[in-house]
Amino acid sequence: MNNNLIREALKVLNLQKLYLHAMLMFGICLFAISSSNAQSGTQELQRCAADDFLQEALEANPGLFEHLQEMESLLQENIRSGSWAEKRSSIAIPVVFHVVWNRSEENISDLQIFDQLEILNRSFNMNNRNLHTVPSQFRNLIANIDIEFCLAARDPDGNPTTGITRTFTPIENVGSERIDFLRRAIHFSEAGGVDHWDPDRYLNVWVCRIGGGLIGNATFPNAMPYPEAEGVVIDYRYVGSIGTAVESRPYDGGKTLIHEIGHYFNLFHPWGPGSGSCDVDDFVEDTPLQIGPYFSCDESDRFSCGSEDIVTNFMDYPEDDCLAMFTHGQRERMLSSLISFRQPLLESDACLPPMGHEPSVGQDSDLQFSYLFNAGKIALFSNDLGPFSGNLYVYDIAGRLIFEESIAFDRIHLVNADFLLPGVYITCFNKTNNRYCGKILIGK
Ligand SMILES: [Zn+2]
Repeated sequence: MNNNLIREALKVLNLQKLYLHAMLMFGICLFAISSSNAQSGTQELQRCAADDFLQEALEANPGLFEHLQEMESLLQENIRSGSWAEKRSSIAIPVVFHVVWNRSEENISDLQIFDQLEILNRSFNMNNRNLHTVPSQFRNLIANIDIEFCLAARDPDGNPTTGITRTFTPIENVGSERIDFLRRAIHFSEAGGVDHWDPDRYLNVWVCRIGGGLIGNATFPNAMPYPEAEGVVIDYRYVGSIGTAVESRPYDGGKTLIHEIGHYFNLFHPWGPGSGSCDVDDFVEDTPLQIGPYFSCDESDRFSCGSEDIVTNFMDYPEDDCLAMFTHGQRERMLSSLISFRQPLLESDACLPPMGHEPSVGQDSDLQFSYLFNAGKIALFSNDLGPFSGNLYVYDIAGRLIFEESIAFDRIHLVNADFLLPGVYITCFNKTNNRYCGKILIGK
């Protein structure tokens, strides 16, 4: 990576500070995009505000600009040396979802969060359902990031947890409410939000209503406006692909969180920090220079800065159906950044349930079945922690047994349904003396 390009990009960021600050004060979104919404008419949506967060961080911390420059040089050195490749055999990132709701519809279901986690895991492991839509000339660039995300199984005090917290807030649009010029209410319990869990051990994801049409934002490593903000904030209508996400076309595929976690792992948009210019890079070798965002896969002209752009990149802005890949260079940058800047998170034990602190077995387990279309899986889940063990059966509508397995699980068990033809199925779970059954509809 050319150091001049890095300097140039950071210079652009710095020069834009005053300009962006002024924009922010007037509440004008830099990347406001139009989206026709059948229910609410035309609504201005802003796909991502990670750059705004970065600008705020630069303004709040006078020495940060130089620090980021040094960190970027260090990172580029690590990428070149290949030290990132000496990573552990597997990476599991513990995630806690803080659902902060004012109206009941904002209190999204556990199943919707499971669905999001499945989409996340598929996409970070090159197993997303729309992978085949990547144009053939870019297929050799698709990378398997090989990172798993889990719902946190132990809370900061060492107690068992579902990895989901739920908090009522008296504040409407709590995601965009500010306490003062800098700080946002969502990040503070005393202000109607929820305090983060130690970001050295958890990836914090706040789910709430965000005003102003903003879909999501995230903090970059080493560059938070204030420490409590570290993590991702996502509007409740764009989590996963079921429940409240169903009405959110074209951002109904659970891709927003993938994009925001890309930022959390230090990826910039393909057009680089700021609003885009052919002089600014995203610090990734194999993503071409790009003048700015694409808002649709249908745009016929996909060339800018003298080369064809990868519109299907998770870090671009088109509809969720279009977003399908990270590149090898983005993989190097993410893994290298994790090792360089987020090492404690890689060593977190929060994916594991606490030792000697077995979760209690629910009295009324209230098991439910569902088909997660984007995950391509049948979900068997309970509102209780479990553990549960028994036999799972899948019957077709004629009552023929199609699938059977012996399973043990906490809260959720997923069955790969790729082998099932579209149609109605009955799934049953037998545990000791009880039999639970549910009807599912599999679509393609
Ligand atoms: Zn973004």
